Amino acid sequence: MRLIIQENQQDAGRWAAEYIVNRINEKEAAGGRFVLGLPTGSTPLTTYAHLIELYKQGKVSFKNVVTFNMDEYVGLPEEHPESYHSFMHNTFFKHVDINPANVNILNGNAPDLAKECEEYEAKIVAAGGIDLFLGGIGEDGHLAFNEPFSSLNSRTRVKTLTYDTLLVNSRFFDNDVNKVPKQAMSVGVATVLAAKEVIILAFGHKKAMALHHCIEGAYSHVYTASAIQTHQHGIVVCDEPATVELKVGTYRYFKDIEKDNL
Ligand code: PGA
Repeated sequence: MRLIIQENQQDAGRWAAEYIVNRINEKEAAGGRFVLGLPTGSTPLTTYAHLIELYKQGKVSFKNVVTFNMDEYVGLPEEHPESYHSFMHNTFFKHVDINPANVNILNGNAPDLAKECEEYEAKIVAAGGIDLFLGGIGEDGHLAFNEPFSSLNSRTRVKTLTYDTLLVNSRFFDNDVNKVPKQAMSVGVATVLAAKEVIILAFGHKKAMALHHCIEGAYSHVYTASAIQTHQHGIVVCDEPATVELKVGTYRYFKDIEKDNL
């Protein structure tokens, strides 16, 4: 696993965006279609902003890129401003040349949610698998909506959100925890790990404990993001404030080994 420690969220977002753009362009040059897994939330905002910037500079096209989002709330109308459909459209898709036919987001209002989840997994396989899955990390160490004690072998399914997650996400719902949907559909830990590459972003003091468990803790369903330890090409990108719970030795090791990759 690699840990890329950047000074701040802007630099970290730029690093992740440039990495993704290089990968897209490499696959395009080889005649392939890049398949990208995407998150929502506050964490990926700087990465999306830099991806849009690189698109505007003509350094990348998303025309042939296929995307799969990590999750969606159950029962929230797609047009609701806090649905992940709305988030993705407003934050990223409407600013780039992506083909809407290549965008895949779980339908949280499907009549048969289990079938929707099964079909989502099948669509990922039909697309050739995910080349790179980008994700954040929850304060409780979750990866996508794989809350603590989710199976590390999990695949896309309906998850009940913990009270902690409802509280954290209530900031998007008038700070009213009762307005946050109590369930979501989420790709599983194994769905993320099946991607050829995984990048997890973690920013700020409030993610420091989760980052510690993800990097230095045990491979454990208690902190599902720790599963990245078993991935062959896992990269965690963080800012300085997120490192405060890491051991000095861990911090120095990664700063030293990555010093030429800034
Ligand atoms: P955040 O959420 O980016 O809004 O902090 C991350 C997550 O819950 O995975």
